[in-house]
Amino acid sequence: MKPIEKSQQAFKEASNYFPGGVNSPVRAFKNVGGDPLFIKKGAGSHIFDIDGNEYIDYVLSWGPLILGHADPKVVSDLQAAVSNGTSYGAPTLLETELAKKIQSIVPSMEMMRMVSSGTEATMSAIRVARGVTKRDKIVKFVGNYHGHSDSLLVDAGSGVATFDINTSPGVPKSLAYDTLTSPYNDVDTIKQIFEKHGDEIACIIVEPVAGNMGVIPGTKEFLQTLRDLTKQSGSILIFDEVMSGFRAAYHGAQNLYGIKPDMTTLGKVVGGGLPVGVFGGRRDIMEQVAPSGPIYHAGTLSGNPLAMTGGISTLNQLSPELYDQMTAKVDRLAKGIADAAQAHNVPVVVHHVGTMWSYFFNQGPVNNFADVQKSDMDFFAKFFRALLENGIYTAPSEYETNFMSSKHTDAEIDQTIAAFNQAFDDALKG
Ligand code: PMP
Repeated sequence: MKPIEKSQQAFKEASNYFPGGVNSPVRAFKNVGGDPLFIKKGAGSHIFDIDGNEYIDYVLSWGPLILGHADPKVVSDLQAAVSNGTSYGAPTLLETELAKKIQSIVPSMEMMRMVSSGTEATMSAIRVARGVTKRDKIVKFVGNYHGHSDSLLVDAGSGVATFDINTSPGVPKSLAYDTLTSPYNDVDTIKQIFEKHGDEIACIIVEPVAGNMGVIPGTKEFLQTLRDLTKQSGSILIFDEVMSGFRAAYHGAQNLYGIKPDMTTLGKVVGGGLPVGVFGGRRDIMEQVAPSGPIYHAGTLSGNPLAMTGGISTLNQLSPELYDQMTAKVDRLAKGIADAAQAHNVPVVVHHVGTMWSYFFNQGPVNNFADVQKSDMDFFAKFFRALLENGIYTAPSEYETNFMSSKHTDAEIDQTIAAFNQAFDDALKG
């Protein structure tokens, strides 16, 4: 067993200060048993805990670190930026530079606004959609996660699903009442919802490639139906690409499917590991945001110079070729995992899109949240711990996604596949 005494002690102490010892629930490893590792540093594809253990990291801060940990250019750009001060609360050239870069990659972002998290991006996009349409109801899909704002904490994925919470105490009933939910990839149900409520619905918000119930790609028919229904009813279609943007494909899931949403939310990679979110889309919609329009949104640290620098430095190093390389590594890893499971007679479904990947201990198919729930979560927990013992750090829940970075080498993919084989041996033994 790897020594983790220092992490255990640190967790005990942290539990005096933070609910459950953490500042975001899934970090606690509660559902997979055992204590979380306290991380000392990251370098490339590796992280190091405070007991001195080293892991190949596929969590990558839950997605942002597409260039791996402490990328030299990102670090030196940030060092240069911080020497000019950390925040001004006034416009800088950096904001426009990042916006131009984003627009060149995701052209549907005709105008945008920078914020400090994915939650803030989706929450603000919903307000804009409600403000523009003058309607209150919104539609989201079961098992999609859009951050923790009140209207969106209904039938959500990620930690909400991991801890089996349907909605949260503290979400006013009236707000939950205005959030209609529908199963993911289910064309008939969403059509029925629009037949009944179409003219009351401000927007649909959807993860075009879902990543908060493991990876589940939306079907083309499903996403096209959402586009058609929103167009017909005068509702706004919001693609939440906080995770899938710069992950499912260089130009985002919207380009992969060839479907243009009215609004898009981004986060994670777009800040290169610093706190950033972005919401934006059609110019006529975004012009309704204050101060050019009446819909209010503001932020002391919105467009923060360090966060903008993290984003610029990261996006400038990305290219379609880099995505081809990362995707090839994911393809090989996914095949290796499927082969390892088969060799051990364990039913598995491996899903991957671009640089996102996950696996379900499930007979399949896995197309929505109800399918994910049929997975063998007890075996997943055991297997997760076995992977850790074999030096592989993955997402501690079947309702989460793993990622690939540009720093993972082919040799490390081989090492990971070997570790998966060993972890199957270990988990099946104990
Ligand atoms: N939307 C999606 C699709 C996400 O995956 C997440 C976070 N995992 C969020 C929104 C919320 O982002 P944040 O945690 O930065 O608030």
